[in-house]
Amino acid sequence: MAKKPVRKRAAGGSGRSDMRKKLMEAAKTAQKKAYCPYSRYPVGAAVLTDSGRIYTGCNVENASFGLAICAERVAIFKAVSHGDKRIKALCVAAKSAKPCGACRQVIIEFAHKDAEMIYLDWQPLEKKEKITITTAGKLLPHAFDPSEAGL
Ligand SMILES: [Zn+2]
Repeated sequence: MAKKPVRKRAAGGSGRSDMRKKLMEAAKTAQKKAYCPYSRYPVGAAVLTDSGRIYTGCNVENASFGLAICAERVAIFKAVSHGDKRIKALCVAAKSAKPCGACRQVIIEFAHKDAEMIYLDWQPLEKKEKITITTAGKLLPHAFDPSEAGL
């Protein structure tokens, strides 16, 4: 009985599962750093790049509301500023976690179309979590694609 799961691990099933766990933990940790005194809606994000490195971000608000930035874009811009421009996977952790439209356009700019998008609907006080997994290619139908535009 115990041998079957071990074989699955050898086939690579566990590698993806380990990656998901790592990303989800990193996103949850980043969520704790959120600066959200106005909305009181903390969000954390973690991005895995082609280099194998993980970059994290949290939402950062401002008294001038339009200056706020989402956790996903903080994580992606950190990755890009370190020279990591290709996203293999992204996790966003929050209550009812999903990237907003602006973040979806930024994700499409840097992610592989089959990059895994993990939404971790996470409510720490209630100790509940729901995980939804999709791909970057499904985030924004008819998105502006710079490669199609010849940019
Ligand atoms: Zn956003």
